[in-house]
Amino acid sequence: MQILPATEDYGIVFQRADLSDNALVHAVVENVAKTRRSTALAENGVQIRTPEHLLAALRCLGVDNALIRLNAEEVPILDGSALPFVHALRECGLNEQREDRRYRVVRRHAEYHDPHSGSWITVDPCSDLIVDLTIDFKSGMIGRQKACYDTTVDFATQIAPARTFCFYREIFMLRLLGLIRGGSLDNALVIDDRKNCFAGGKTPLFDNEPARHKLLDLLGDLTLAGLPIQGRVTAYKPGHKTNTQALKQFIADAVL
Ligand SMILES: [Zn+2]
Repeated sequence: MQILPATEDYGIVFQRADLSDNALVHAVVENVAKTRRSTALAENGVQIRTPEHLLAALRCLGVDNALIRLNAEEVPILDGSALPFVHALRECGLNEQREDRRYRVVRRHAEYHDPHSGSWITVDPCSDLIVDLTIDFKSGMIGRQKACYDTTVDFATQIAPARTFCFYREIFMLRLLGLIRGGSLDNALVIDDRKNCFAGGKTPLFDNEPARHKLLDLLGDLTLAGLPIQGRVTAYKPGHKTNTQALKQFIADAVL
C-alpha cells in the first residue's frame, strides 16, 4: 500500500493498482458494500476491504485528500490497530493546503436504531467532533466498557494503538465463513471467556482496549461521510453495519 498526496477537494480515494489506474474506489458511504466484521467498499465492480483503521488515522491526523494505492483487495491489517498508519503518515509529513476545510455539520438531533442488534447511534449539534461510545458484551472479560474521543484526546496514543479483538468461541465459525483468514494472535486480541484470559498470554494495552478499538472503527466509518463531521456522536454497541447505515440515514435525512 502507498499513500500519495492529492489536491484540494480530491477526498480519500483508493486505487487498485493491480487492476488498472482507473480502478478507483472513493471512500464514501454510498460505496459501502459489506459490513460483516469489517467494512468493504465497492465502486464499478472494484472492491476494497478493511479500510476503516486507515481511514480513522487519516481523518484524525487531519488528512482530507489522499490517493491510496493498493496491489490487492485488502488494506494491510498489520498489527490490527491504526498505529502503523499513524507512524507512516507522521514520518512522511503532511502538507497544509490552501482551501478552507469543509465539514459535514450536524444540524439537529437524530437517531438510528438497529432492531436486530439493539445497537443505536445518535447525533447532536456541537462545535467540535465528540464521539462517546459504549459496548456491552455478554462476557465476563469485557462486559460494559466506554470510550470517548474529543479534541483533548490524543488519537495517536489513546485510540490508534487499540487492536482488533474477537472471542475465542467465535473463531471456528468465522473461519468456516471464510472471514479472518489473515487473523492471528499477532494482529488481534483473542478473548477466551472459558479460561477468563486473553489467548496467547497477551495483555490488553488499556483496561478498555475493546471499547477503544470500537471507537477506532467508528471514527473510520464516520470518515465515509466524505468530509469531517462537526457534532456529537453517541453510539451504543456499534458495529460496521450500524455505523454505516446510521451515516447513510443521517445524510439522506439532511441531518448532516
Ligand atoms: Zn477494527
